[in-house]
Formats: sequence, structure tokens, C-alpha cells
Amino acid sequence: MIKNKKILVLGMARSGTATAKLLAKYNNEIVITDMKEQEENILKELNELNISVIITKDQENLLNESFDLVIKNPAIRKDNPTILKAKSLNIPIINEMEAAYMFLPKDVTIIGITGSNGKTTTTKITYELLKYTNKNVYLAGNIGIPLSSIVNEIKSDDILVLEISDHQLCDMYKFKTNISVITNLSEVHLDFHGSYEEYKNVKKKIFNNNNTLDIAILNKDNSDVLDLTTDILPKKIYFSTNENADIYLKDNKIIYQEKEVINIKDIKISGTHNYENIMIAIIIAKKFGVSNENIQQFLQSFNGVEHRIEYVRTLNGVKFYNDSKSTNNESTIIALKSFKDNVILIMGGLDRNIPFDSISPYLTNVICIVAYGETKNKIKEFANKNNVQVIVVSNLEEATIKSYEISKENDVILLSPACASWDQFDNFEIRGDEFKRVVNELK
Ligand code: ADP
Repeated sequence: MIKNKKILVLGMARSGTATAKLLAKYNNEIVITDMKEQEENILKELNELNISVIITKDQENLLNESFDLVIKNPAIRKDNPTILKAKSLNIPIINEMEAAYMFLPKDVTIIGITGSNGKTTTTKITYELLKYTNKNVYLAGNIGIPLSSIVNEIKSDDILVLEISDHQLCDMYKFKTNISVITNLSEVHLDFHGSYEEYKNVKKKIFNNNNTLDIAILNKDNSDVLDLTTDILPKKIYFSTNENADIYLKDNKIIYQEKEVINIKDIKISGTHNYENIMIAIIIAKKFGVSNENIQQFLQSFNGVEHRIEYVRTLNGVKFYNDSKSTNNESTIIALKSFKDNVILIMGGLDRNIPFDSISPYLTNVICIVAYGETKNKIKEFANKNNVQVIVVSNLEEATIKSYEISKENDVILLSPACASWDQFDNFEIRGDEFKRVVNELK
């Protein structure tokens, strides 16, 4: 528990605001700061709790030796001047999840799900399957629900399913899971961490404080996951879509402990990547005694998570899919692998200086790329190199309208940007909503 401390919360957003509100209940003196103007109702709510809100570009000068703790938004880099100052003043720096963790009662079973791709989908399916147990199950973390906002509701013996990003793992020390998952590892967020080695070492922190009674659920088909986890303490349980493992896919069936749990024809979402996500959730559900019937019942109707290869509409035989969550090459590759029809691919967004070349082998049925945003010219070069027609426009609305203009019956128009949204949108959800708005207004 964090009590009677003077705390600087760096970065407001959803998690900063939630952690400030939580900590204010425990006689902490809180200053929360952001560079961006905030909504009036949030400011009012925080002021009523005696939290000082300071909107400034000069956050460094807010910090001095009188502070006991800094709570950093996960997106803030470790070389941020205020963070460097906190280090030089020897003020501990933690993040929102670590802070909220200190308020959890004993004996809560914590399931932490991380990995390069598939975190949200796996977290959501796990949470839904665990609802079939007779325990209270909570969902939080990177999925858009700060742990701070629900921690006071959680009681001993409840289950907590947490999606944990690499950014969140950076500033965790005491945090400990009972069941940890790494869905897969690939080279993403290297601009933030500096190198793939550094990124993998951050991911390994999911096993921090684990002992031999804990469980690690790992991807047997991903050699980087296997290499990273050779020396971890928890019991290792493996999933695979290629070969025999604790849970695996064989002849279109998911087999757990050598018995069939479900046939994939009875699973509504598709794609090998989704079978991996489902296998992870099944292992966890099985540990808590969920029956095959309940697992089947859920998976027969589960449509997937919004903004992940989400079907939007069919107009004059053209199908629209929203994969706004695709913020890297890997996700766009996964999306392209999911379609057999001709695809008009909308790409673009924040420029992280990452080449698009790894997407090249998956362009076979891409008839045109429509590029927008900060990366549009790099995408144009990429398309030219691959002899794919390319159209460059300035924003997503134009990209969507243009895609429909050039489409023919049976084409798929796929928004799978392979870039973060932050050049033109606050987040990928708003980007996906904008795409759906334009698609739904097309006539
Ligand atoms: P995350 O939360 O890790 O970003 P999501 O579940 O939101 O992952 O899925 C985002 C995208 O990542 C999906 O649209 C899909 O393209 C891809 N994806 C999902 N699951 C996997 C997986 N198991 N392996 C590889 N890619 C995946």
C-alpha cells in the first residue's frame, strides 16, 4: 500500500488519472501533470479530490527532492528529462500497474498476458472463459482498464486477468503473477527499447518474482520465446500449432492432455494466430476446471475483438474490414494471410523508421495499396519495389473513399495500417472508428 507520500504522476491519460484517484484515497499528496490540455470534467473531478493538476511542457521543474515517488505513464521514455531528474534525485519511479498492485488483497490469482501480438484477444478470451468458474473474475491492464480503477473491488480468492505491455513491464519491481503468458515475440517497439535484446529482456520481467509453484504458458513454435525462457523458475506449459505439446492443434482439433477440446469448425473466429490465442485461454480455463461444453459454447459465438480484422460491411459485393489495431508489420502479415480474395490495402500512420519489407511475400493478392499519413511516401516506395499499384492520399477518409472508388465486386478493402495511429489520431480505436464511420456512410 502507498500511504502518506508526496507523489508526482507523470502523464494523465486513462491510467494516470485512475492512479491519482486511487492514491488520493490514502492520504497521499498528489501532483499530476501532462503536456496536453485535459477535459474540464476530469480536471474538476481531480480538484475535488485535492489533487493538483498542472498542465505544462516544463514538467522537469515540477520535480524536486520533496517528492517520495514518481508514477510514470508507460509511454514515457526512460530518457525523458523528468525521469532522468527523478533518477538523479534517487526518487523511485514505478508505473500505474505496479502502484495498483500494492493495493491488491492477498491470494488473488493473477494471470499476466504479454507478448508481441495477440495480447488483447488472448486476455479477452481468457477472461470470458473464466467467467464459467464460480469465482469473481476481473479484467484490467493494457486492455484499456487501468488496474487502479478496479483494484478496490477485488477480494481475496478472486481472479485477475491482466494484459501487460512491454512498456508496462519496464517499471515493475514487486509485481508478481501466478500464471504468466508470452503469446509470441517479434521485433516490435525497437524505437522505444533501443534493441530487440533489450525488448526481450523487458518481456522476461513477466516472470519476475515467480517461483516453482507458478506457471508459464509459452509458445513452442517461437524460438525466441524458447531461448528467452530456458532459465525461468515457473513450470513451463507449451502450446503449438505444429507439433505435439501440452495443448496443440492436430487434424483441425485442439487437443489438451491428449483429449479433444474443440474442433476448429466450431470456432467462429479464424486464423492460426487466433487458434494460438484460444489454446492459451483453454489451458488457463482448464486449470480452473471449465468444461469443454462451456468452452465450446463460448467459442461458437465469440466474434473477436473490435478493430482486429473486424468485419464492417459489404457494399455492392465489396467487403470492408477494420484492422486498425495493426500497428506493426507482423499484424498486417497476419491480416493479409486471412484473405483469399483480392485485397485493396489501406496502410499508413506514424513513421517509426521501420522498413515494410517483411510484408513483401504476403502481397500476392493485394491489387492496390492506398497510402496515407506520415509514412505514405515510404509505403509508395515499398509498393513500387513490389510492383503493386499504389495511390497516395493525405488522410484515412480519402483513403477509404478512394479504395471504394477503385474496387470491384468481391474485393476486400482492408484497413491494416502496419503503423501506429499517433500521426493523425489519439489512438487506434479512434482510427478504427473513423474508418467505420466513413465506410458506413458510403453509398
Ligand atoms: P495485441 O494486444 O498484442 O496488440 P491483439 O489481440 O490486439 O494483440 O491483436 C492485434 C493484431 O495482432 C491482430 O489483428 C492480428 O493481426 C495479430 N495477432 C493476434 N493474435 C496473434 C498471434 N497469436 N500471433 C500473431 N499475431 C497475432
